[in-house]
This record gives sequence, structure tokens and C-alpha cells, in this order.
Amino acid sequence: MQCPECSGELQGRSSRYTCKNCGAKWKVTFRCEQCGELPKVAASCGAVSFFCDTCNSLKSRESMDKEFVKDTE
Ligand SMILES: [Zn+2]
Ligand SMILES: [Zn+2]
Repeated sequence: MQCPECSGELQGRSSRYTCKNCGAKWKVTFRCEQCGELPKVAASCGAVSFFCDTCNSLKSRESMDKEFVKDTE
């Protein structure tokens, strides 16, 4: 995924990401690009996957709609 400010590469998992380039921290909300619902987050073996119950399909981070909110904590 890309940083919305500098297009640098974002590193992280689930909903928290840090930009490798500018160091900005982001909270990301993912929405299914097909139905607009929030997908379920399933973590297993260090990998995080997103699953939409409504569409009954596994979602990829790249394809879903994303909302970026700067994490100021
Ligand atoms: Zn950045
Ligand atoms: Zn869906």
C-alpha cells in the first residue's frame, strides 16, 4: 500500500501502518469495494487476512476501499 501523503511504502498489518518514507503513522479502515461493509479481520500465523461476510469472500488490502486517518498517538 502507498502513503497518501508521499506515496511511500506503508509497512504494517491489520489497521495500523507506518510510512517507510516519511514516517507518518496511519490508521486505515478497510471497506469491501463491492458491498461497502467492514470486512472481518482474521489474524493467523502472523498473517492478517480480511474476509467479507456479506460477499462471502476473502478480500485483499489492495482491492478494498481504504480510509486513512493520521495516527497522532
Ligand atoms: Zn509517507
Ligand atoms: Zn462485501
